[in-house]
Amino acid sequence: MPDRVSPVARIYLDHNATTPLHPAVADRMVAALAQDFGNPSSLHHFGQRAKAVVDQARSAVAALIGADASEIIFTSGGTESDNLAIRGAWEALERTPRRHLISSAIEHEAVLNTLKALAKRGAETALLPVGDEGIVSPDALRAALRDDTALVSVMHANNEIGTVQPIAELSQIARERGALVHADAVQSAGKIPVNVKVLGVDMLSISAHKFYGPKGIGAIWIRRGLRLLPTLTGGKQERGRRAGTENVPGIVGMGVAAEIALAKMAEESARVATLRDRLEAGILAAVSGTVLNGARVPRVSNTTNISFDRVEAESLLIALDLDGIAVSTGSACSSGTLEPSHVLKAMGFPAHRTQNSIRFSLGASNTQADVDRVIAVLPEIVEKLRHLTRTPVRA
Ligand code: PLP
Repeated sequence: MPDRVSPVARIYLDHNATTPLHPAVADRMVAALAQDFGNPSSLHHFGQRAKAVVDQARSAVAALIGADASEIIFTSGGTESDNLAIRGAWEALERTPRRHLISSAIEHEAVLNTLKALAKRGAETALLPVGDEGIVSPDALRAALRDDTALVSVMHANNEIGTVQPIAELSQIARERGALVHADAVQSAGKIPVNVKVLGVDMLSISAHKFYGPKGIGAIWIRRGLRLLPTLTGGKQERGRRAGTENVPGIVGMGVAAEIALAKMAEESARVATLRDRLEAGILAAVSGTVLNGARVPRVSNTTNISFDRVEAESLLIALDLDGIAVSTGSACSSGTLEPSHVLKAMGFPAHRTQNSIRFSLGASNTQADVDRVIAVLPEIVEKLRHLTRTPVRA
């Protein structure tokens, strides 16, 4: 189908799904693909050269999350990191009485479905509720913790609504009861300060493609000395925690992306927050029947999630796309289906509000002109869609 919108005129507002590769990242990856082809486990020049670039990237990734480089394990992305944290901890504790796993109702599927899989193998699981602001309460964790709780896994920032969870407080509560703590920081790393020591966690997952790095590469920070069974068995790479020849170009790309994200974080998150706030206020003022989903604070700087009354989210997404504006209906994994958002459902919203929400996630390429264009075109698009469906206004 011919593209009726020029690529330069397109506006990308789906940075929580993925981000474009930073040009400096692409350059370094191309160089690594061509020159650093050795196997980092090989003892000769070529292997040692590849090992050197991997180690350099490991230090850059560690710096992004306030960690020691020796505690960073590279994986294939956020999903694998989440799996390794939860399955690895569960399996390491298999012969102990700790059989209980706690997470939250608003986690990414990488966590939720891993819990479901372990439940089939005998794990007892509990999902912490969230209030209508989309934040896990420390009291809910206190109530759910048991003497046999093995692990508490709560995300740092939510991918759909951007709310930031009180991880440091939750960690302290969990650790007092002897449970391990994992934080999925895939949506916070690179956007807001993330420091494993401040958060007080045992494990933390991140993914490069959410901060202008390549897809298919991520990392998990594992506190030194923590026993974890590997999910992939094989060679001794990554200190025996993750077998398989390292994805050297991906790792190099992740390192460069981490360096850039850290250097620009304060300035860029303030700039993006200003744009996000302008977009949010503009939409809520210009389009009737709109409501913000989730707390305004604490929230990552780039995300806003808005429900449009009497509009089906998928139809609005498609209409905006035809106008050159890319947004998302909740998490990327569930787009294309009419399933209500499990996040908004957990927040206690009625069915229509969970099905008519749009996530706008801003990033490096966005300008004030982009935001103003979205605010300018949205009222008419929404009115047209409402006219087509002619459903009555809801109270
Ligand atoms: N966790 C969260 C909160 C995410 O948003 C995502 C991706 O959308 C993931 C995990 C999975 O990361 P990856 O795409 O690198 O597997």
